[in-house]
Amino acid sequence: MKPVINYDDCEGCGTCVEYCPEVFALGDDEKAYVIEGAKLDSCDLEEAANTCPTECISLED
Ligand code: SF4
Repeated sequence: MKPVINYDDCEGCGTCVEYCPEVFALGDDEKAYVIEGAKLDSCDLEEAANTCPTECISLED
């Protein structure tokens, strides 16, 4: 499973980064992005998606 962030809906709260710092990061534009080559098994991605307040993280195969 690979997380995909809906750029327009991200409000830059940083919750996903706190939860999965090896997968998500905040860019200079204060939007979250998925780190290239991220360790996707380093955290619970479903939980990370569930904690996003704007529900803009989806999980794709
Ligand atoms: S938790 Fe959601 S809204 Fe907050 S920074 Fe991450 S993707 Fe953006």
